[in-house]
Amino acid sequence: MNILNTIIEIIYPPRCLICERFLGNHRVRKDQHDILICQDCLNDFNEITSPLCPICHKPFESEIEEDHLCEDCLRKRPFFDAVGAPYLYEGGVMMGIHHFKYGGKTHIAGSLGPLLASFAKRWLKKMDGYLMMPVPLHPKRLRERGFNQSLLLARHIASVLGAELDFLTLRRVRDTKPQTGLHRDERRKNVRRAFELTDRNVVKGRSIILVDDVATTGSTLNECARVLKRSGSDKVLCLVLARTSGM
Ligand SMILES: [Zn+2]
Ligand SMILES: [Zn+2]
Repeated sequence: MNILNTIIEIIYPPRCLICERFLGNHRVRKDQHDILICQDCLNDFNEITSPLCPICHKPFESEIEEDHLCEDCLRKRPFFDAVGAPYLYEGGVMMGIHHFKYGGKTHIAGSLGPLLASFAKRWLKKMDGYLMMPVPLHPKRLRERGFNQSLLLARHIASVLGAELDFLTLRRVRDTKPQTGLHRDERRKNVRRAFELTDRNVVKGRSIILVDDVATTGSTLNECARVLKRSGSDKVLCLVLARTSGM
C-alpha cells in the first residue's frame, strides 16, 4: 500500500461494503485486491458444493456424493455447456448484489469481482482462448441504471485472468420485462429473441464465457447461448456470482 492510500485510510477508515462496519486491519485479499467485506458478512456467503449438476450447477441435497445431471438438464439439454457459480443467491452475497445493482454501489465490483475471478480460476483451470461476454442490458435499461453490473464484473475477471473481453457484439435488442416473479416457462418466453449478434464472425469457432451476476432459471443465459451456438460458437460456459438453489 502506498503512502497516499495509508493517509486516505487514516482519514476515511474503510467500512464493509455490505454492513458498513469498520473493517480494521483484518482484510481478506484475493489476487492483490482488498476485499472490502467484513469476515462476518463473508461467512454469510454460502458456497455451492458437490453434489451438484455439472451442467447447470444446481446443488443437490442428496446422499449420493457424486455430481450427476439434474432432471431439468436430462429432460432438455440447455444450449450452454456449463454454468459455474461460487455462491447460492441468499444471505451475504444477495445483500452484496442488491447494494451493487439497486443501490448503485458500483465500487462493490472491486470486491465481488475478485471473489468470482478466484472461483473462475479453480473452475476453468486455464482461460486463454476464451472470449468473455457480459450478458448485455437493453440500452433503455442501461440509461436508467447507468451501468451494466455484468460488464463491471466481467471487466474485473478478464483483467485478473487475462481473457479477451467483448461487450459490444452481443446485444439485447428487446426490452424484456424483469424476470422476477415469472415462472420458468414465462421466463423462457420473455427472453426469446431478446439477443442478437452484431457480427457472427466474432464468435464463430470460439469458446465463450458469458458473465452475469445472478442465475435463477438460467433462461437468459440459455437464450444468449442459443444465439451464440446458432452462430457457430464452439463451447459456451456461463460464469455467475450466485445462483438460486432451485433452477
Ligand atoms: Zn460486513
Ligand atoms: Zn442441471
